[in-house]
Amino acid sequence: LPPETQQMYEAHDLLRKFYHHLLVNTKDGQHALEYLLDRGFTLESIAKFQIGYSLNSWDFVLKFLTKRKFPTEVIEKAGLIIKREKDGNYFDRFRDRIMFPIYDRNGQTIAFSGRSLGADEPKYLNSPETVIFNKSKILYNFHLARPQIKKQQQAILFEGFADVIAADRAGVENGIGTMGTSLTEDHVSALRRNVQSITICYDSDHAGIEAAYRAGNMLSEAGCQVRVALMPDGMDPDDYIKQVGEEPFRKEVIGASVTLMAFKLRYYRRGKRLHDEGDRLLYIEEVLAEISKLDNAVERDHYLRQIANEFSLSLEALKEQQKQIFFNQKRKD
Ligand code: ATP
Ligand code: MN
Ligand code: MN
Ligand code: MN
Repeated sequence: LPPETQQMYEAHDLLRKFYHHLLVNTKDGQHALEYLLDRGFTLESIAKFQIGYSLNSWDFVLKFLTKRKFPTEVIEKAGLIIKREKDGNYFDRFRDRIMFPIYDRNGQTIAFSGRSLGADEPKYLNSPETVIFNKSKILYNFHLARPQIKKQQQAILFEGFADVIAADRAGVENGIGTMGTSLTEDHVSALRRNVQSITICYDSDHAGIEAAYRAGNMLSEAGCQVRVALMPDGMDPDDYIKQVGEEPFRKEVIGASVTLMAFKLRYYRRGKRLHDEGDRLLYIEEVLAEISKLDNAVERDHYLRQIANEFSLSLEALKEQQKQIFFNQKRKD
């Protein structure tokens, strides 16, 4: 490894330990610890995920690492300090934030995400892209979850750090998350290499439902068996575990996940009044287009029957229309 890269890993490792120490052992970190405990984080998961606290200081990191002989350029390239345009002075990127270390698949700390304590924006501040941190490739918690993913032949995909950590507390240890970006093809192939069954458990809000639809299609096109775990409107997994409980999360959310197709039936239903003829026809059309994409004839038949029953339509007519849609899709390809 080039010495600079080695130093970047070392700087992250030292800071992870020190941030964690500040959170759990010092008066400076006390308000941050109280914030976390109040949100339902436990000391056990704070230790397991090495959560920390960055001081409310403009130059703590610079001094801390300079004292330990790290060159300023390296600290800057690692994304830990920022150069001020006006005077060329440096200041710390992360100040007065809850610090979530981000690990690569070998368990090396390569970046941080810092959450503000109050309503400060941005809510989450990530390290920038560096030689050791590529956001579109990294999955949060992959290094810890991988053995569990292999063992259970199943991975659970979350949106946020807090969701991964709360799920782990609830006994769901095969959870991973993206870094606040949507799922990329790199994430998909990293996952696909390790597991075929993936359950998407995104926030139950507009953004989360749209993101689940897109992620579901990407994973399914990569050959994954995709299920979607749903929660009551507006909640995310962390909210649900805190408000409803750990066992209901395991049983009624993860344990009651539905197939990607069943999720899509609900997805297309949103905002439609199905007693209205126009909405109903549009819904049937959208759903038939999805059914046409299924490779499995038995599955196609299953959903066609379900639609036929629900809307009292003849199965023959539905099959006819579905074939038509199928050939139109083929022509476009
Ligand atoms: P919390 O429970 O701490 O409020 P969350 O995970 O529920 O956080 P969401 O608003 O649902 O937060 O966002 C999901 C994920 O998107 C976050 O975990 C974070 O990775 C990312 N994210 C959210 N807001 C920002 C932001 N302003 N900048 C960068 N990433 C963000
Ligand atoms: Mn959200
Ligand atoms: Mn959320
Ligand atoms: Mn949340």
